[in-house]
Amino acid sequence: MPLREQRFSPVTVAGLTSANRTWFALVTSIMVLASCGPDATERGRNLAPPSSSPTLAPTPDVAPGVAAIGDTSQLSPMLRRAFDPAADFTPMRDPGPDDWLAQHPESPQTFADFLAADTRVPGPQRRVIYLLPIGEFPRDAPPLASLSTIVHAFFTLEVRVLPAVKLADVTAKRRIHPATKKSQVLAPDVLRWLTRRLPEDAFGLMAVTMEDLYPQESWNFVFGMASLRERVGVQSFARQDPAFFGDPRGDGWQRLMLRRATWTLVHEISHMFGLSHCVHWECVVAGSNHQAESDGRPLHPCPVCLRKLHSSIEFDPAERELRLAAVLEQLEIKDEAEWSKRRAAWIRDGTR
Ligand SMILES: [Zn+2]
Ligand SMILES: [Zn+2]
Repeated sequence: MPLREQRFSPVTVAGLTSANRTWFALVTSIMVLASCGPDATERGRNLAPPSSSPTLAPTPDVAPGVAAIGDTSQLSPMLRRAFDPAADFTPMRDPGPDDWLAQHPESPQTFADFLAADTRVPGPQRRVIYLLPIGEFPRDAPPLASLSTIVHAFFTLEVRVLPAVKLADVTAKRRIHPATKKSQVLAPDVLRWLTRRLPEDAFGLMAVTMEDLYPQESWNFVFGMASLRERVGVQSFARQDPAFFGDPRGDGWQRLMLRRATWTLVHEISHMFGLSHCVHWECVVAGSNHQAESDGRPLHPCPVCLRKLHSSIEFDPAERELRLAAVLEQLEIKDEAEWSKRRAAWIRDGTR
């Protein structure tokens, strides 16, 4: 089965390999499922004229991760700096045997590939990202108010948190995990349930839950899933809490959990815009096979993924980084706050 994220029927999941088809395999993948459905694009993408389209073919002396950004020579100096990979970004490390790309050798999606794909863009009537809590959230769960401010700053779209829905009200298959003995919810069922509840003005609807998720019977679990076409996703915080595995929570565990929840949340919502997994850079949109791999990745997108998001949302990239810096600083995610502050200065006027 092809391993690249593709458009599957609602009952098919991308990325399964025979090695994954075991209950106890060390598999903690973040999956992307895309279901077939009617085209719901609100408006045409605001494409640059052909003369400025990123059509340059990769040349032998340009690294694929740089070539994937495309030609930026016709863009404004500010945008050229925003998509300049020269500093502040780390090329993708060689994967270890349990890492995502070792298990799922996906094809790259260049910026030009992204523009050519049938992706979703926010329209004037559909510009809200909704977060929908499902089930119980204990007091020490990642605060949805904090997560919504991060999502707002990251995507520069309005974010609204919907009233919580009881798990029993969601039509989704459940099972007991044979090893953890904990309940799990079938994520594709949740996605199908969500597609019928997408608000009129929603660009996307992201369910969040403390329930553990699984993508299909042969899989151990999944952190989250999102549709590339239907603009819905679901994410579990359950395994991002050290206590899930009986480990001590330790100092700063809530900050750690918030960071993990943020990583998965912006990763999954990025998929709603049609972004496939990033393969060239250490990036928030890169696939992740286990928590340590996610923990080692930044919370920010690489220049390729930033350019894709920018082409869909058309934000001011310097203003976006400044607002992100303020939110991340307030939430004590200091390294990323510093990174965004530094990027804002560079993008605005070339200050390093
Ligand atoms: Zn993913
Ligand atoms: Zn990327």
